[in-house]
Amino acid sequence: AKAEGRGSLRVFTPRMEREVVRRRDVELELKRALTTGELAVYYQPQFSNDGDVVVGFEALVRWLHPVQGLISPGEFIPIAEQSGLITELDMWVLRRVCEQARDWGDVKIAVNLSPVDFRMGNLADTVRRILHETGFPAERLEIEITENLLFGNQPEAFASLSALRNMGIRIALDDFGSGYSSLGYIRRFRVDTIKIDRSFIQNIGHTEDAAAIIDCVVRLARALAITVTAEGVETREQLRYLQSVGCHYVQGFLLAAPVPLSGVDRYLERVARG
Ligand code: C2E
Ligand code: CA
Ligand code: CA
Ligand code: CA
Repeated sequence: AKAEGRGSLRVFTPRMEREVVRRRDVELELKRALTTGELAVYYQPQFSNDGDVVVGFEALVRWLHPVQGLISPGEFIPIAEQSGLITELDMWVLRRVCEQARDWGDVKIAVNLSPVDFRMGNLADTVRRILHETGFPAERLEIEITENLLFGNQPEAFASLSALRNMGIRIALDDFGSGYSSLGYIRRFRVDTIKIDRSFIQNIGHTEDAAAIIDCVVRLARALAITVTAEGVETREQLRYLQSVGCHYVQGFLLAAPVPLSGVDRYLERVARG
């Protein structure tokens, strides 16, 4: 890496070659996995800020590889995005969620979509068809997007976003604060929820900045009637602070890790009835 200074010749090293081969292997294997039942959806509960009531779940894809075991999405999502497999994968996840979570009661399910999915002109039609075919109510679906999507600023992405909203689907802005988006964007794109990035939550009690920023974001969001979810909550101290500033919802290992379908029941007992 030392030799890769500015202006220097880039050499295709054995390490890079191995990386290319690995990527191609993962791509081929992922293509197969989409049809062989190696993918699964895990669900991470989201709670009211007292940690008592389950208000929703975030769907997170898992790859149970026959040889390599559990592969993390952090590893294969970027490869899926580059190879164009991501949209097929995301639509598979969405359909699965709609089938599995349809009868869970008054609880919303958040699904992650890649900015790449929005390049497909008819994203909203595809989502509508999946909801229709599975009978899953649009009002219980939340779609998580990232700041890059808003930044790309492509007109077709904006059109898809509006179409999804008009169907009654909620839009959440993921990893808020990790990029460059501002509350101005949030107003313009009319997101319903912002998810404060884990890095801020983890710095509560360590840097005064993090606490001050969270406080400020929650106030502004509340003034705009936007819901705030804190993600990556791992300690009681973090939870107490988030309560004190009025953050609506919390998600993180302190309260619950992502669980497979078989682990969802005990959380469904904590969904508000009425
Ligand atoms: P994300 O959307 O920010 O999801 C939150 C990640 O944080 C998840 O990692 C979750 O397991 C992890 N997490 C939850 N609570 C805690 C905590 O208290 N502490 C820490 N340290 N981590 C926590 P996961 O499941 O490995 O997913 C990684 C990323 O992969 C996700 O980040 C998301 O960007 C992407 N991803 C996952 N599933 C999908 C999918 O179906 N489609 C797309 N396009 N992306 C997905
Ligand atoms: Ca997410
Ligand atoms: Ca996130
Ligand atoms: Ca993320």
